[in-house]
Amino acid sequence: MNIILLGPPGAGKGTQAAKLVADRGMVQLSTGDMLRAAVKAGTPTGLKAKAIMDAGELVPDEVVSGIIGERLDQMSPGEGAIFDGYPRTAAQAEALDQLLADRGRKLDRVIELTVDEDALVERITGRYTCAKCGEGYHDKFKQPKAAGVCDVCGSTEFKRRPDDNEETVRTRMAEYRGKTAPIIPIYEARGILTRVDGMADIDQVSAAVAAALDGE
Ligand code: ADP
Ligand code: AMP
Repeated sequence: MNIILLGPPGAGKGTQAAKLVADRGMVQLSTGDMLRAAVKAGTPTGLKAKAIMDAGELVPDEVVSGIIGERLDQMSPGEGAIFDGYPRTAAQAEALDQLLADRGRKLDRVIELTVDEDALVERITGRYTCAKCGEGYHDKFKQPKAAGVCDVCGSTEFKRRPDDNEETVRTRMAEYRGKTAPIIPIYEARGILTRVDGMADIDQVSAAVAAALDGE
């Protein structure tokens, strides 16, 4: 199965993707994670993307579609892809159709996580991850079981994204409203869109996502 998790920044795409990876052995393809890795490694793509990401704007379509194509080529045919944070524009949506068709894959379902915009700023400004294993946490909504210790790997080091500040979040939301939300009707018209209430508790969202994928 190949699926898209769609929703504004902070909707819970990464959180739900991690659960699908753990439960179903699917592969998470997060363009945000790939771009952050490129920035960290100082690759030409990373050097180009850094200022754009810090401003909360969108990296050019051909750059992100290029890295998605490369990543798809590394997957074995039996593995399902979870697109997280991609596509974000109509051009990317078209490119994805082509990238999948070229590889004998198809898009099975698009899950839109619906959320109140007011809640997103709180979600994003409270977000942090384990610096060692990348497990995601939140100051209020998902704290480690033992304070300051990662549940998964035991590390005591955590990090926050430089673009997870209130000002950049506003730009990222405007980009979502203006460029990403308009692609939702494309998938709705194809009959592959499921809307899931992203304001519910993390576990309830996971259950609704699972039901959507299992056709319940
Ligand atoms: P996205 O990948 O869509 O940007 P994340 O999955 O990183 O969003 O979630 C943003 C923040 O909100 C994280 O800190 C996460 O722990 C928290 N979060 C995710 N889903 C929920 C939820 N259903 N309720 C409350 N907090 C959530
Ligand atoms: P994310 O981790 O999905 O919140 O993405 C972080 C940042 O990376 C975004 O604000 C954009 O600058 C950039 N980015 C990630 N995915 C894309 C994409 N599909 N198209 C354009 N820019 C992207």
